[in-house]
Amino acid sequence: MSKIYDVAIIGGGPAGLSAGLYASRSKMSAVIIEKGKWGGQTATTEELENYPGSMENPTGPKVTERMKAQAEEFGTECLKDEVIGFDFSGKIKIVKLSKSEIKAKTVIYATGARPMLLGAPGEVELRGKGVSYCATCDGDFFTELEIVAIGGGDAAVEESIYLTKFADKVTIIHRRDEFRAAKSIVEKAMQNDKISVIWNTVVEEIYGDGIVEGVKLKNIVTGEQTDFKTDGVFVFVGTKPITEIAKGHIELDAKGYVIADEEMRTSVEGVFAAGDVRVKSLRQVITACADGAIAAVNAERYIEKNFEHITLPDAKKEGGWV
Ligand code: NAP
Repeated sequence: MSKIYDVAIIGGGPAGLSAGLYASRSKMSAVIIEKGKWGGQTATTEELENYPGSMENPTGPKVTERMKAQAEEFGTECLKDEVIGFDFSGKIKIVKLSKSEIKAKTVIYATGARPMLLGAPGEVELRGKGVSYCATCDGDFFTELEIVAIGGGDAAVEESIYLTKFADKVTIIHRRDEFRAAKSIVEKAMQNDKISVIWNTVVEEIYGDGIVEGVKLKNIVTGEQTDFKTDGVFVFVGTKPITEIAKGHIELDAKGYVIADEEMRTSVEGVFAAGDVRVKSLRQVITACADGAIAAVNAERYIEKNFEHITLPDAKKEGGWV
């Protein structure tokens, strides 16, 4: 008989890693399945100043690396694989992987979100050829060059500050006349000599012959159209939930976010959601971690109510931890 986990966690970002930590500390057997980068979007964020306690070396990759190590130390299994579907019809949930499947008493869906595309002509063709969505991944390619960042949220402003470590000049292009980013981040950006802002402006086209050469802009107040030469375009216009595999299995809202209550319960009993993927008002590392903890605790309560006992991971049976 194949192993039945107490909790199968889909997604290895802060929400999933926190769920793993809390589940394992509660002596539940837990597995996290991640197909991409451990740490999710946070692993592509260079500065993580607002996560409590992350004062020294607070980079996204460092903090999430520690989160993973901590979850594993308590017994969470971290598996690199792709989830391709689910069967939530029975009491034991089935998570379908590319070549196998995982059985679990509960599932925590924590797949997070991915960057949204701008939708401008040239964006897709020039992706990886000057168009980027990740400052941490690609900033270095723009050393001593001039680049633009599109958007006015936390990501656009914060990542622009980070990009000034490489680029000579970063121009933020924002469609309104004020940022939605946190005031402290905006203040820091405004004090940076390498950053300037073009307000009330949208990017109508990204162009270049095999590599980005410039953007065509339109001022939405005056209607004036201008040509702006640039070596690179960083797009930070928001994120969308990763719920393709959840469709038809758990209830989603019109934008594709998972609907879950404050106990992280989804529309399916025994299936919980956590982090950026769920409908919520504040998407931050700290709220993702909180969701993960709440989901794990409620998964435990669900198991206690619906199953005879919690499955102890082998290491714990051997007396590894008190
Ligand atoms: P966001 O907060 O949704 O901001 C998206 C920005 O892009 C907005 O300024 C929006 O303009 C603009 N925008 C959207 N569609 C556009 C379009 N088609 N053309 C031009 N501009 C467009 O997204 P985010 O900055 O990626 O952040 C996502 C979530 O992660 C947020 O909850 C954020 O707080 C969080 N986050 C937090 C931190 C942190 O706290 N350190 C860092 C990064 C991200 P409008 O303002 O006009 O709508």
